[in-house]
Amino acid sequence: MTNKNQESHLTADYLIIGAGASGMAFADTLLTETDASMIIVDKFHRPGGHWNHAYPFVTLHQPSSFYGVSSTELGDDKIDESGFNRGLMNLATGTSINAYYEQIMSRRFLPSGRVQYFPLCEYQGNGQFQSILTGKTFEVTVNKKTVDATHLKTKIPATHTPNFKVSSEVVFMPINGLTHLKNTPGRYVIIGGGKTGIDACLWLLEHQVDPDNITWIISRDAWFTDRQNTQPTPEHLIYFLNDYACQLEALEKADSIPDLFLRFEKAGVFLRLDKNVMPRMYHGATVSQIELEQLRRIKNTVRLGRVQQIEKDRIKLEKGEIPTNSHVVHVDCSANALSHAEMKPIFAKDTITIQSVRAGQLVFSASFIAHIEATVADDPSLKNDFCKEIPMPDKDTDWVKVYATSFRNQHKWSKNKEISKWLYNNRLDGFSHLVANVGPYDTKSGEILARISKSKKPAMEKLNSFAAEL
Ligand SMILES: Cc1cc2nc3c(=O)[nH]c(=O)nc-3n(C[C@H](O)[C@H](O)[C@H](O)COP(=O)(O)OP(=O)(O)OC[C@H]3O[C@@H](n4cnc5c(N)ncnc54)[C@H](O)[C@@H]3O)c2cc1C
Repeated sequence: MTNKNQESHLTADYLIIGAGASGMAFADTLLTETDASMIIVDKFHRPGGHWNHAYPFVTLHQPSSFYGVSSTELGDDKIDESGFNRGLMNLATGTSINAYYEQIMSRRFLPSGRVQYFPLCEYQGNGQFQSILTGKTFEVTVNKKTVDATHLKTKIPATHTPNFKVSSEVVFMPINGLTHLKNTPGRYVIIGGGKTGIDACLWLLEHQVDPDNITWIISRDAWFTDRQNTQPTPEHLIYFLNDYACQLEALEKADSIPDLFLRFEKAGVFLRLDKNVMPRMYHGATVSQIELEQLRRIKNTVRLGRVQQIEKDRIKLEKGEIPTNSHVVHVDCSANALSHAEMKPIFAKDTITIQSVRAGQLVFSASFIAHIEATVADDPSLKNDFCKEIPMPDKDTDWVKVYATSFRNQHKWSKNKEISKWLYNNRLDGFSHLVANVGPYDTKSGEILARISKSKKPAMEKLNSFAAEL
């Protein structure tokens, strides 16, 4: 017998759709800062969102120390002593991220008595959701707001459909398939020049695959961030501050957007794979210098546009073709994790739509949005003034749009004492507490802070004028 037609009525202050990283970060901060009750609904069987379907060797590309939820550390902040990330802070693996979110749910959220969690339930709109397992439907009376933590629709290789045709006579798999190979392939063809393609190439190289046995199809080259500049430790702070100072100085001096990017590269703000190829993409991915050196060992790079079709003996691309055969493993890394969802105001009368309010920092953003919900008067325009939504980047020039809004938000927050204190104490913020403690005793950091304060105003004016051009 099925429960399909049974309906349960539930009541909560907040109905949160999505128990991915952003829904979890939002709920965690709301739990800390309010007495509110919450219902969290997710169609997956456990929290963590896309990390549940990620490839086995996935890791964060930012230090674990400022990822996850604000209340609870993720990882151990240790510096890696081996591997391609050596010298830099540990990057949590997908497995540890999934375990982390399970623990947040079972040890913090549920015991609070204020959170009800409904896994394997699909939200249908208008406060209604349905259990995938039983068919039972639920209707929620929401006292305060419905929170959409699904709007950005992260895509990953295991759950996306490639936008090209593949012959059934070739071996084709998402990146997840690499760890299940039974026979040694004649060659690996990696399809995708973004972070997933990079991860596939690095994993093969780490496992001693000859770089000459890898063909890497890169439809667009990307600008990367040097991971060294994103480390929230006192020892690395100098790199972070210098990176920021260099961004501002480049902005101040640049006479066009292409000139800006070349200045970024010269100053070490941006990295690229091949000095002879001008990147046309910016997705905010970070790489270590060692990873980049490794990637450059792959000489068979194919830059003929996007794959259109994989036939049994050739791969057709937009601007040409390359041979292939049945001994080649074709690895799909073409899913674009970043959303093309239309941006919308974060706060509306009865809803909150989670989006970024700081460039490249979605989990920080979700926590910040919860803080604004908890502390700013219930007027969407007042709340949105602290939370201007940042578009997801795609093209190289999107850096300008993304950072114009990100710096705008940061400037607004810096004028507010309560928010500055909150940033200082929030682990997802990463850097505020370190920067606040730079004293005159530390001459090197002090000098960089002086460069920052000198260039800030003209740099922001230039950034806004570049953004207006776009
Ligand atoms: C490989 C990879 C590495 C990354 N590394 C980093 C990093 O180092 N740092 C960083 O800041 N970002 C990183 N990101 C970006 C990443 O997108 C975010 O960190 C974050 O995990 C996204 O979480 P989310 O909750 O917004 O989305 P998701 O993980 O997609 O979660 C959305 C949830 O909503 C649920 N859902 C959707 N529709 C419904 C519905 N109708 N009913 C019920 N449930 C629904 C889904 O089941 C899912 O659980 C990475 C992304 C990828 C793909």
